[in-house]
Amino acid sequence: MNKADWHARAAKLKIDGRAVINGQRVDAADKGTFECLSPVDGRKLADVARCQNADIDRAVSSARAAFEDRRWAGLSPGDRKRTLIRFADLLIANKEELALLETLDMGKPISASMNTDVPAAANTLRWFGEAIDKVYDEIAPTNDKTLALITREPIGVVAAIVPWNYPLLMASWKIAPALVTGNSVILKPSEKSPLTALRLGDLALEAGIPAGVLNIVPGFGPEAGSPLALHMDVDCIAFTGSTGVGKKIQVMAGQSNLKRAWCELGGKSPNIVFADCPDLDSAVEAAGGSIFYNQGESCNAPSRLLVERSIRDEFVKKLKQYAPRHNPGDPLDPETKMGALVDQGQMDTVLKYIESGKSQGATLCCGGERVRAESGGYFVAPTIFDGVTNEMKIASEEIFGPVLSIITFDTQEEAIRIANDTNYGLAAAVWTRDISKAHLVARALRAGTVHVNSYDEDDITVPFGGYKQSGNGRDKSMHALEKYTELKTTWIKLA
Ligand code: NAD
Repeated sequence: MNKADWHARAAKLKIDGRAVINGQRVDAADKGTFECLSPVDGRKLADVARCQNADIDRAVSSARAAFEDRRWAGLSPGDRKRTLIRFADLLIANKEELALLETLDMGKPISASMNTDVPAAANTLRWFGEAIDKVYDEIAPTNDKTLALITREPIGVVAAIVPWNYPLLMASWKIAPALVTGNSVILKPSEKSPLTALRLGDLALEAGIPAGVLNIVPGFGPEAGSPLALHMDVDCIAFTGSTGVGKKIQVMAGQSNLKRAWCELGGKSPNIVFADCPDLDSAVEAAGGSIFYNQGESCNAPSRLLVERSIRDEFVKKLKQYAPRHNPGDPLDPETKMGALVDQGQMDTVLKYIESGKSQGATLCCGGERVRAESGGYFVAPTIFDGVTNEMKIASEEIFGPVLSIITFDTQEEAIRIANDTNYGLAAAVWTRDISKAHLVARALRAGTVHVNSYDEDDITVPFGGYKQSGNGRDKSMHALEKYTELKTTWIKLA
């Protein structure tokens, strides 16, 4: 489809903004709604149910009832597997609609929604579905008078609260492992991008996931998220979002029933390029491509580029030449590489950080301004600052926009020190042809993922998550199953 086809399809789109509770599309109990606006052009897309306490209570009791009567938890792993695979197939069958919703709602280019977000979300459902009937429990090596079985059971009612930057993908990272292990789930999408999550609720029912097992409650954080985090009948909260809100989630879990609180949070990831980098052009493309992908709204974006002094001038020159490839365009144009920021508030935040970079003495190499304002959307040009020190706000705080900060270093020790001098620890990269140096630096970096001579390698088979204030727990891979299961030991006395 070309740009005109996508616009024609967008004009005809019918959007249902109601919540999904107990297998039904429903209004909020008080009929409240909020406007869902598109960052592409500022237009209203839909009125969406504004769920609050009463709706959260309804969703939790429907999830609890579904869990207690074992309509889902009681199925064999093989049956849950087949349902998850049907669910994945339905995402692919509805790929164009989901991709369009994602792009209109969140601002990312249609090529990313079509080629990455929707297929990756479907793959997550499929992968966890396929995995679950290959998981065995354990028998402990005790003694010949006893049998000790170590089994995993679903936790019960899981509440997933997700952010707006990869709405469908982040939802799938939570719901796939939670559902496949037999839990009932309540998903609260971000108020900034709730639309694909609501369609997920429909598709889950169509796939055969029983009513009440997956509920979708759109709404604002304090109104719909906090009641979930404080709820006495929610057993686990799986949160992805900012570090500030993650800290509140942990407090609310402690104030209520000490529910498990898994938090996947922010980042300020370092990308270290040594002078013996094997391929400068690849390093330039990875540095620029990864910070500008998804408009810089990626938790693991390499927002701090640490370059060894002897190659700095050449590297910066190449990066400046590379950046315009990501100049923002119409998100519905399949040729566009960078789209709109999620809303006006996020754009204003990014522009404020750019001002702080200038006023704290960094050198603006390119970008630094709003573009395409005539479209009514929220676009910022790819922005690069040189001469940054790690103490500047643009190097120490998560901007969540297309802004790259370049810091120069002289020695390996200095690079490691600067890289680790952050509250975060989500991802990092090191570029060198020296295998020992690569291993030593990777080992020294306090981050959940370290890339060597690449950035943004990704696969569902590996865990994703962070050290320090980037959170706890891991999404993806078999390790994610641990978050949504209880470990039980059953002792059997052999007479
Ligand atoms: P956010 O913390 O503002 O919101 C995340 C979710 O929490 C939303 O659904 C929001 O409605 C809800 N929320 C907000 N306040 C709440 C409250 N008081 N109680 C309960 N829920 C509340 O984050 P955001 O702006 O949506 O997303 C961007 C952040 O997410 C960035 O910091 C980014 O790094 C992080 N992120 C992390 C990962 C990861 O895997 N580590 C992945 C994607 C995004």
